[in-house]
Amino acid sequence: METLSYDLVIVGAGSGGYAAARTAEAMGASVALVDPGPLGGLCILRGCMPSKTLIASSDRAQAIREAPELGIDAGAPRPDLARIVARKDEIIKGFADYRIANLTDYPLYYGSARFVSGDELHVGDEVALRGKAFVVATGSVIAPAVVEGLIETGFIDSDAALAPERLPASLTVLGGGYVAAELGQFYARLGVATTFVLRAPHLLSTEDDDVGDALTQALRDEGIRVETGAQVVRVERSAAGKRVTYAQGGAEEHVDSEEILYALGRLPNVAGLDLEAAGVRYHAMTGIEIDDTMRTSNPNIFAVGDVTGIAPLVHVAIYQGEIAARNAVSRARERADYTLQKAHAIFTDPQVAVAGATEKDLQRAAIPYVSGSYPFDDHGKAIAIGRTKGFVKMLASPDDGRILGAAVVGQEGSDLIHETIVAMAYGATVYDFVKIPHLHPTLAEIWTYPAETIVELIAAIKVATPA
Ligand SMILES: Cc1cc2nc3c(=O)[nH]c(=O)nc-3n(C[C@H](O)[C@H](O)[C@H](O)COP(=O)(O)OP(=O)(O)OC[C@H]3O[C@@H](n4cnc5c(N)ncnc54)[C@H](O)[C@@H]3O)c2cc1C
Repeated sequence: METLSYDLVIVGAGSGGYAAARTAEAMGASVALVDPGPLGGLCILRGCMPSKTLIASSDRAQAIREAPELGIDAGAPRPDLARIVARKDEIIKGFADYRIANLTDYPLYYGSARFVSGDELHVGDEVALRGKAFVVATGSVIAPAVVEGLIETGFIDSDAALAPERLPASLTVLGGGYVAAELGQFYARLGVATTFVLRAPHLLSTEDDDVGDALTQALRDEGIRVETGAQVVRVERSAAGKRVTYAQGGAEEHVDSEEILYALGRLPNVAGLDLEAAGVRYHAMTGIEIDDTMRTSNPNIFAVGDVTGIAPLVHVAIYQGEIAARNAVSRARERADYTLQKAHAIFTDPQVAVAGATEKDLQRAAIPYVSGSYPFDDHGKAIAIGRTKGFVKMLASPDDGRILGAAVVGQEGSDLIHETIVAMAYGATVYDFVKIPHLHPTLAEIWTYPAETIVELIAAIKVATPA
């Protein structure tokens, strides 16, 4: 077996691993990557990019359906699945080829890594890699199906849902998280009769109730069935197809469909790494334990991205990868701050985006806050373009007006949220915010309304409770 030594050995060449490699190389370190392939990472191959490319097609179909509202008769949309998937495949190939070209600039060892000690790992039986430090960035895997009868009955997961060969006539989506919501709406908008079955009272159970309720209502308004408070009991074949039986409100109900999409989450990918041999603590459900410097329980081994279970978002994987590389190469103790990093968007229509603290976060932490919100159906630009679903919300401290959090359910929400991220990054108050010029008529100017509401609410609180 050949033994090679590097300053930094990176296990997993996805978004987090690649960010770590680029950063360490720019600092002059010798870097090697290990990955069994396919190269490109989850985001490009089976995550963010294929899903958003497909959703662009189903959103366009919906825009055609809604065109008569703007005086344009375009007829009923006729989705051509083969062309939709071919377009997605071609775009993804372009992104992946570009990434692979960048990755192959590094020494890249094809195979699965397995630690044999705290400073050595093996790639298959041929290569041993020694490192002054390591970054583990092996991502996540689809959580195994735990529902009774699901495996025997057959189902698709998010990987299969992103590469359909034909459209089922009907689909039951198990789960109400963002992958379920995005892909379920994609299928529904291509004409598949879609039913969501979820235990929570609304889609996106971890979001504030007004946010999750608004998305749930928006999907119902376009004819999607959403069964909430529904605990799946079993799955089986029936004469009408695949039957999902669920308990809801004390009764047993069922839904029959041609296909089932199982979208109940992902787990950190720690299998086969032999982390014990390297003295790295982890849990199969929550991933590799790290501190704010990305160090694991072995201070020479860092972990980043989905495998840490902190926030399954590509920008977080990149942020962590860069910090880990800087800390590994210069033996520094730069710390991550996730307050704004955990901002995220869900690419349904209407889109959902959240930054900073949610009301649930603030209530849990017993932090006082003032909230202002404003609906798109009362906003000039939204009315003009016929995109009036949803609302914006801002949360601020009643003491000094500092903006603590923001949420959008609405058109272009994933872009609109950035204004509040920038404001929070600079510690802005609502008093600063209302002074920022907003062009008219734009969707972005809607943020001025919740900010103004909060200014008035804080003034009223101060009048009611003089110092
Ligand atoms: C359907 C879907 C949609 C998504 N949409 C979004 C979105 O819109 N926005 C967003 O921010 N995030 C989204 N995500 C999440 C995002 O894709 C992930 O958070 C991100 O890609 C994680 O990056 P990573 O570097 O941790 O892991 P990955 O990119 O998965 O990289 C892990 C790498 O490790 C390699 N590997 C695995 N095991 C080994 C081993 N033993 N040895 C060596 N290498 C190994 C793999 O081959 C892979 O290349 C989505 C995910 C899904 C599933």
